[in-house]
Amino acid sequence: MPQMRKDAGADAAQGCGPLIPPLSDSLRPLRQQVFERVRAACLVARVQLARDLGVSPASVTSATSELIEAGLIEEVIAPREDGQGRGRPAQALGVRAGAYRVAGMKLSDREHTAVIVDFAGNLLADHVIPRPPGAMSMPEMLDTIERLLDCVCAKAGMARGDLAGVGIGVPGFVDSDEGVVFWSSTLTERAQPLAAAAQDRLQVPVSIDNDANLVALAELWFGSGRGLSDFAVVTIEHGVGMGLVVNHRIYRGARGLGMELGHTKVQLDGALCRCGQRGCLEAYVADYALAREASTALNFGHREAPPIGILLESLYDHAKAGNAAARSIFRRAGRYLAVGLSNVINLFDPALIILSGERMRYDYLYAAETLAEIESLAISTGRPLPPIEIHAWGDLLWAHGAAALALSRLTERLVASPREPAREVAAQ
Ligand SMILES: [Zn+2]
Repeated sequence: MPQMRKDAGADAAQGCGPLIPPLSDSLRPLRQQVFERVRAACLVARVQLARDLGVSPASVTSATSELIEAGLIEEVIAPREDGQGRGRPAQALGVRAGAYRVAGMKLSDREHTAVIVDFAGNLLADHVIPRPPGAMSMPEMLDTIERLLDCVCAKAGMARGDLAGVGIGVPGFVDSDEGVVFWSSTLTERAQPLAAAAQDRLQVPVSIDNDANLVALAELWFGSGRGLSDFAVVTIEHGVGMGLVVNHRIYRGARGLGMELGHTKVQLDGALCRCGQRGCLEAYVADYALAREASTALNFGHREAPPIGILLESLYDHAKAGNAAARSIFRRAGRYLAVGLSNVINLFDPALIILSGERMRYDYLYAAETLAEIESLAISTGRPLPPIEIHAWGDLLWAHGAAALALSRLTERLVASPREPAREVAAQ
């Protein structure tokens, strides 16, 4: 192996600078750039496209002709900007919304959520099913996915075969490119090829990702992250997750397992985490960490504790009513959260941090004390800290992110071969 490395080094010595392949992630084909620009703008004229992308009008015309021929975009009559409706109607380009439909779903510890969106990202239907607590076996998970998909398809008045892709988000360690779930709190087995197994079952192309990445994707496609190149999303639910957007793209790490903020260590030999190690951030901040302390503080030791959601609501009520033990539990969790967030700021210097997840209703977690703690732990330059926004939007948004994953994989497939007739590609 060292021999091979030496050879590779010798080749590289012929030039200098990073060896970026011609069509890398950061340098997409022009027709893909054109398509993405049209989708982001909703409606845009060719001349504006050329200006936005910094290419000649002739290049834009050639790329748009290919995309129109492939049935991915269409010419529409746009309302004139002056609002008077005088003169020749303006020609603009838009995504052919009806060309394809995809589904997105989030499988969580509490419930499963699914949406169907069209090719332009418009929501067509959504569906939620509750679930019993505990991890599922792989066959149970596939049954659940199938049942959920059929329910949401029925709501949208379509068949499963009408879908061009399905995106699925699960909590845990997920390699999105390989389609493998290494570990998830929702799955009893480890290292499962979930994407391939679900694709076999559904007969529709399936992509999977870590659920926190999908929240970041949802913010990037539909939310506050649309105009930002670098931002972070931190999710606090049953676990603590993170999605990082770098240069308008989700950063997943070299092997697809990056950004496991919940399992960064905040205490040596500290509290036991669900992952089996000690001192992880989520062992202090996540639902189960709060519940562990709550059952002691609220004296559930001698009898069976209620379900986790009810336990946390009770803890929150006690804190609001002034119970010192309940307040100290939230306060401690908030301090550990501050450690985690200040580390994110010190490592990535994001333009914005979005805190997402149902637990963000517990405002003790991000009280003024927590923000002051972040301020004291982040590197001090005299400049203000990045803004921290709270989005307690819940699972529907996460499922939307899964649909965005399916759309982006579909787009990559289609735009790579735009001359393929649309229906043939859809039937793959
Ligand atoms: Zn852990």
